[in-house]
Amino acid sequence: MARYTGPVCRLCRREGMKLYLKGEKCYTDKCPFDRRPYAPGQHGQRRRKLTQYGIQLRAKQTVKRIYGILERQFERYVEKAMRKAGDTRENLIQLLEARLDNVVYRMGFAISRRQARQLVNHGHFLVNGKKVDIPGYLLRPNDVVEVREKSRDLEVIKKAIELNKERNTVPWIEVDFDNYRGTFLRYPSLEEVTDLPVDLQTVIEFYSR
Ligand code: SF4
Repeated sequence: MARYTGPVCRLCRREGMKLYLKGEKCYTDKCPFDRRPYAPGQHGQRRRKLTQYGIQLRAKQTVKRIYGILERQFERYVEKAMRKAGDTRENLIQLLEARLDNVVYRMGFAISRRQARQLVNHGHFLVNGKKVDIPGYLLRPNDVVEVREKSRDLEVIKKAIELNKERNTVPWIEVDFDNYRGTFLRYPSLEEVTDLPVDLQTVIEFYSR
C-alpha cells in the first residue's frame, strides 16, 4: 500500500480529533480542524453511529496516523507486542516510542513526526555516532541521537529548536540543544504517554478478532 500523500489535515477531520500532524500550524487559528471539526466530504456532517468494529478500526487508524506508520509495519508491531510477555498495550507503546523518527520529534529537532521522518530519511542524524537514515530504527535505552554537524545550520532544524527550547521534553528523554544531541534514557511506561487520545486496548482488540 502506498503512503498517504494527500492533505494531512483531512486525517484529523476523518478521525474527529486533532492529531497534531502539521507542527506549528496545529497550535494556531489556521488549524482546519478547529474551523471545520467534522469529517471531510459530502457526508462529513452526518451523524454516524459506529459499530464495535468501527470503533476499533478508527482507534487503530488514529494511532497509525499519529505515528505515521503504514498498515503492514503497524501489524508487525502489534504481533511483536502480543508475543512479548507483559502488558501488550505497554509493549506496543514502547515499540512506537522507540522509533527514531518519533524520538527526533520528541527531542524537539523537528516540529512534527512527519518532518522528523523526512529529516531522518535525508540522513541528518547520527545514533551513537553513526549515521542512521531509517525512520523506523528502534532505539535502545541510553542511545544517543545527534544532529550531524553539517546539518546543524538547516533552517528547519534551527526553527524547530527555537520553538521547542522552552518546552519540557518527556521524562524518558534528555535533550541538550546546545550540543544538538539527546539521549533516549529508557522506555516509557503506558501511563507516561499521556498525549495519545486512544485506548490501546481497543486497537489490540481490532487485531485479536
Ligand atoms: Fe490536524 Fe494540525 Fe492540520 Fe489542525 S493543523 S487539522 S491539528 S494536522
